[in-house]
Amino acid sequence: MSDFSLDLNEDQLQIQKWVHDFAENVMRPAAHEWDEREETPWPIIEEAAKIGLYSLDFVANAFSDPTGLGLPLVMEEVAWGDAGIGLAIFGTTLGVAGLMGNGTPEQIAEWLPQCFGTPDKVALAAFGVSEPDAGSDVSSLRSRAVYDEAKDEWVLNGTKTWITNGGIADVHVLVLSVDPELGSRGHASFIIGPGTPGLRQGQKFKKMGIRASHTAEVILEDCRVPGSWLLGGKEKLDARLARAREGKRTGTQAAMSTFEASRPAVGAQAVGIARAAYEYALDYAKERKQFKKAIIENQAIAFKLADMKTRIDAARLLVWRAGWMAHSGKTFENGEGSMSKLFAGETAVWVTEEAIQILGGYGYVREYPVERWHRDSKIYTIFEGTSEIQRLIISRAISGIHIQ
Ligand SMILES: Cc1cc2nc3c(=O)[nH]c(=O)nc-3n(C[C@H](O)[C@H](O)[C@H](O)COP(=O)(O)OP(=O)(O)OC[C@H]3O[C@@H](n4cnc5c(N)ncnc54)[C@H](O)[C@@H]3O)c2cc1C
Repeated sequence: MSDFSLDLNEDQLQIQKWVHDFAENVMRPAAHEWDEREETPWPIIEEAAKIGLYSLDFVANAFSDPTGLGLPLVMEEVAWGDAGIGLAIFGTTLGVAGLMGNGTPEQIAEWLPQCFGTPDKVALAAFGVSEPDAGSDVSSLRSRAVYDEAKDEWVLNGTKTWITNGGIADVHVLVLSVDPELGSRGHASFIIGPGTPGLRQGQKFKKMGIRASHTAEVILEDCRVPGSWLLGGKEKLDARLARAREGKRTGTQAAMSTFEASRPAVGAQAVGIARAAYEYALDYAKERKQFKKAIIENQAIAFKLADMKTRIDAARLLVWRAGWMAHSGKTFENGEGSMSKLFAGETAVWVTEEAIQILGGYGYVREYPVERWHRDSKIYTIFEGTSEIQRLIISRAISGIHIQ
């Protein structure tokens, strides 16, 4: 008998169904409204918290599924419900990943519960690396953290941009430069706790898609934080900086370790949007009659659906592989995390566009959800590393050559 199986186990099936029910009954009916309002859907986040979907326990359980499929399964269902609301609920996990990837056990124990709050008083977390002049090129961060030894405090200055939950989060995990000469090896991650003076929200962006998810600038003006808010601690940072100054290896960079861990979960969201559009287009193609027959009876339409389904399944398999590899401690030797995000993101854009085509004019108007899914899908080729950057990672990994 073979050990290999793609069957989900009982626990996974149960969780998948539970999240699906919430996605279908709570998120889907609210999706249009919050897309139009372009505001954070607090009542839905609170509802998710009340049933335990938005909670530290739930995310910790999903994350600790030994197969590595826990989080991807949840994310696919949530994004199937609505990607914008899904990100409003689970954008916190980015901050959580930043904390888990770089914090000491004591820092994690102190801050993790504060990222979620309680069902009566929900909290959000944010993770911020991007700056106006440092998007794909993370090494050119301008925001600075300077140590004030006399007070054992760090003084933070700079502007972060495009930050999911930026300014409305209770816990911000921000990556800043402590030594600009060292490029990305001079970065460090900081926790900035609730209500810290010197941190404020800048402009909130009006977006093409995922409009229920809050995206804004975070501005730091002489923001003073205690020494203990440096993730990983000062001793570790000093040792790392000393190694970098001597030209020695320093291990994974703060921002990169967070993105590596989150890529399969992000890819899974793209799969969820694509699946939503595919299912809708399939039903529609069976119902809609032109020239006295269902439009699906034309190969031109049926073959589109065949290709959509094939690519969605392929994307999911890449996501599951990356999730499984990351969880079982396997190195992404060929950029497998990037492959999953790249392929799933581009699949979602392509599938949702084909779905619009299948619906014709009905695909193009806001009364139907398909145009929204297309708008939502596009972010998956941009954030968490653009498609070009994923290709860069994969091509460097497979060739061993520093492709430019
Ligand atoms: C809705 C939204 C939410 C976001 N949430 C967060 C968040 O929570 N936290 C956070 O830190 N960031 C967040 N981001 C930022 C996001 O990660 C960046 O937008 C992304 O990394 C791209 O950076 P950029 O926009 O500056 O584009 P640029 O880096 O300027 O890229 C512009 C174009 O040039 C291409 N390009 C750049 N360099 C190369 C190269 N070497 N080779 C080939 N092509 C290249 C890119 O692929 C892209 O097509 C978010 C962005 C959006 C829009």
